[in-house]
Amino acid sequence: MTISFDNTENAFAYKTSKQLKLARFLFKTMANPVLVQLGVRLSPLAIKIGLPVKGLMRKTIFQQFVGGETLTETATVANLLGNFGVQVILDYGVEGKQGEDSFDHTTNEFIRVINYAATQPNIPFISVKVTGIARFGLLQRLNDAPRIRSGIHDNEAEEAEWENVRKRMYRICSIAAEKNVGVLIDAEESWIQDPVDRLTIEMMEAFNKQKVIVYNTIQLYRDDRLNFLHMSHRIAQQHNFMLGVKLVRGAYMEKERDRAASKGYPSPIHTTREATDIDFNAAIAFCIANITDTACIIASHNEESNLLTTQLMISNGLVPNHPHIHFSQLYGMSDNITFNLAREGFSVSKYLPFGPISDVVPYLMRRARENKSVSGHTSRELSLIEKELKRRKEAGLK
Ligand SMILES: Cc1cc2nc3c(=O)[nH]c(=O)nc-3n(C[C@H](O)[C@H](O)[C@H](O)COP(=O)(O)OP(=O)(O)OC[C@H]3O[C@@H](n4cnc5c(N)ncnc54)[C@H](O)[C@@H]3O)c2cc1C
Repeated sequence: MTISFDNTENAFAYKTSKQLKLARFLFKTMANPVLVQLGVRLSPLAIKIGLPVKGLMRKTIFQQFVGGETLTETATVANLLGNFGVQVILDYGVEGKQGEDSFDHTTNEFIRVINYAATQPNIPFISVKVTGIARFGLLQRLNDAPRIRSGIHDNEAEEAEWENVRKRMYRICSIAAEKNVGVLIDAEESWIQDPVDRLTIEMMEAFNKQKVIVYNTIQLYRDDRLNFLHMSHRIAQQHNFMLGVKLVRGAYMEKERDRAASKGYPSPIHTTREATDIDFNAAIAFCIANITDTACIIASHNEESNLLTTQLMISNGLVPNHPHIHFSQLYGMSDNITFNLAREGFSVSKYLPFGPISDVVPYLMRRARENKSVSGHTSRELSLIEKELKRRKEAGLK
C-alpha cells in the first residue's frame, strides 16, 4: 500500500468553496512576515485594551484554527470531522490565566471536556497544559532549583502550591482513566519542562498499568530529547508501566533561541533543521520498535515523517489502526495528510482547540508565526487549496 497526500478531493471534502477561499486568503496573508509580525504584536494588545477586533478575528484566523468559543459550538466541528473518519483531540485552549481559583476552574473545565469526550465516538483524547493549572513562576522555580527538583522544598507555601497542582492533575487523570479518555500533556518552554516531565511520569506510573491513558510530549527540536525518550522508556520498564508519548518537533523555537541568546546560555534547540528531522524520525522508529509497551502519537504536518511512519508500520506488519499508533495534525492545517490517512484506515485526528477568542490568542499567534513563510509548509497548503478550487471549478462545482 502506498499512501498519497496529494488527493485534494478527499482532503477538503468537508470544506465549502467559500471556506477554502477564506483559507487561501489567510495562508496568503500569513505568508507575509511583516503582516504577521504586526498582527502578532498588535492583536493581543488590541484585545486587551478593548478595541473591536474580535469580530474580525472570529471571521478569519479563529474560524480557520479553532473549533468554537464553547464546547457546544465545537461539538458541531467534531461531528463533521467524525463523518470523514477523522478523530479529535479536544483542547480547552485557554492560556495565560493566573491564580488558584482560575487553576481550579480550568481543572473543572478539563474534567467537563473529558466527560463530554467519553460520550462521543470520535474523541479519544483531550490535551492539557500544565500552565493551565499551575503558576508559571512556580514551575520555573521547580525547574531551576536542584534542591527542589530532588523533592526537598525549603518554602512551605510553594510546597503546598505544588501539592495542589499534583492533586489537580491526579483528579484529571483519574477521571480520564475511569472514562477511558487519553490525556495528552503538552510540552511548553524548556525552562519549565522538568517539573512537567516529573508530574507526567508520576501520572503515567499511576494510570498506565493496563493501557496507556497519560502521554508526555517529546519536543524533538531540543537536542536532548531523543535521549530523554530512551530514558523515559527505561523508567517505564523499571517501574512497570506503559509509556505514552506525543512526538512533536516543537512550537517555541524562536522564543527558546531568543531567551538563550539574551541570558547567555547554549540554546537547547538543534542548530539545524536537518538535526531536528533526524531526531524526529529516529523517535518514530524507536517507538515502533518498542510498540508493545509504548503508545505514540505522531503529531506532525511533515509529509515525510508521516509517510515514514506508515512505511514502518507496514514493514513491521502492524495494522493501520494499531491501538498504539495515532497520527494528528492541528485543525486548519495539513488536511491532505489527515483526511488521506483516515481514508486508508489509519487512526488519525485533528487537534481541535476551543475557548473564548481573548483566551486563545496565544495559540492563534503561534499558528500565525508557524505559517509566516512563503517557503515549505505554507506554499504547500496554498498549492493544495488552489488545486482543489481549480478542480471544483472545472467540475462545475460551487
Ligand atoms: C496534535 C499536535 C500537538 C502538538 N503539541 C505540541 C506541544 O505540546 N508542544 C509543542 O512545542 N509543539 C506541539 N506541537 C507542534 C507544533 O505546534 C508545530 O506544529 C510543529 O512543531 C511543526 O512541525 P511539524 O512536525 O509539523 O513539521 P515541519 O513543518 O516539517 O517542521 C517545522 C518545525 O521544525 C523545527 N525547525 C524548523 N527549522 C528549524 C531549525 N532551523 N533548527 C531546528 N529546528 C527547526 C521547528 O520545531 C518547526 O516548528 C503539536 C502539533 C500537533 C500536530
